[in-house]
Amino acid sequence: MNKKLSLILAIVGAFSLASCAKETTQTANTAESTAKQAKKCGDMSAKKCGDNKTEAKKCGGEKTAAKKCGEGKCGGKENMNLAAIEKNILTKYPPLEIEMSAKKLAEHSYQVQGKAGIATDNAGFISNAGFVVTDDGVVVIDALGSPPLAVELLKRIRKVTDKPIKKLIVTHYHADHLFGAQVFKELGAEVIAPIGSYKYINADSTPKRLAERRESLKPWVNEQTYVVKPDTIIDKATDFELGGLHFTINVVGAAHSDGDLTLLVKEDGVLYSGDIIFGGRVPFIGGGSTKKWADTLAEMETGLDLNVLVPGHGDASTDPAAAIKLTKSYLLYMREVMGNAVEEMMEFVEAYEETDWSTFDKLPAFDAVNRLNANTVFLSMEEESVE
Ligand SMILES: [Zn+2]
Repeated sequence: MNKKLSLILAIVGAFSLASCAKETTQTANTAESTAKQAKKCGDMSAKKCGDNKTEAKKCGGEKTAAKKCGEGKCGGKENMNLAAIEKNILTKYPPLEIEMSAKKLAEHSYQVQGKAGIATDNAGFISNAGFVVTDDGVVVIDALGSPPLAVELLKRIRKVTDKPIKKLIVTHYHADHLFGAQVFKELGAEVIAPIGSYKYINADSTPKRLAERRESLKPWVNEQTYVVKPDTIIDKATDFELGGLHFTINVVGAAHSDGDLTLLVKEDGVLYSGDIIFGGRVPFIGGGSTKKWADTLAEMETGLDLNVLVPGHGDASTDPAAAIKLTKSYLLYMREVMGNAVEEMMEFVEAYEETDWSTFDKLPAFDAVNRLNANTVFLSMEEESVE
């Protein structure tokens, strides 16, 4: 390239940058000028994006802008841009009225608690979520079962802090903890999930589950709802720091699901366990391994020094050992009775009817999940017996 040509290009470039900067302070008058401006600014202004909603749109769509800002390229303008995106999020999903309150568990850690029930009870609000407020932003733990539920969670977070949502940690890929994830993704949060999540994402059953929820949780799960892919997969114990707080993500493996993790907030002594622990109710046994699950709980029982344990469902507990014990004893009992039945070559129906369930049958969610759990364990004990 000759010198004259590069000089001309440099001048044109400088002019168009200046022009982008100038125009972003003005509201575009017509759709045509907006489109022209977007083309002109391209990626250059996307880097500087973020004063207002119009500009976020100009910079290549709100989601792109959020992603770029989430990666920290927008400097001081980041918050203003995210505010515009957030304002839009508050109205873009079907409205939902639900009883939900954020309970403060420790100085920085909070929980919202879903009701005991099957997946479609209470507008799908049957699981717990949490959030931790640091000086530099918020860590959200699980995203609930639909985008409108996640919006309700966001509103509860906003009653406590206006700091940006930095991370969404999904304890495991199951619909009731996951289908709200797009709300936090759109806000620029880094989506963190355990190894094993892609087994769920790629499973044939996942689009069927989504289709089923579009019916059973209509209109909150709809055509706009999608399965968010993680930005970061965690495959071993990982520490991180945010805003002066220290966190440890522990990978449990395939216990309750294809992949589970827990999050420890060290300064608060709070553990978000996901569904490897159910508080005060019968657990739902998903697609993992009850053996691994029970072994993990046995290890946790002795190794934990916690103030509060937040399970994936049910009450938070200041007595973690007791909370762990309930889930563990249920799993062990289930393995024992179904294991014996397999050994004695009994049919499942007969085995189920002959089992004494009196230790657990008064607990919440027993009627909803116990038979299904027993069947899951029966089949897995059959598999284990031939391994
Ligand atoms: Zn769950």
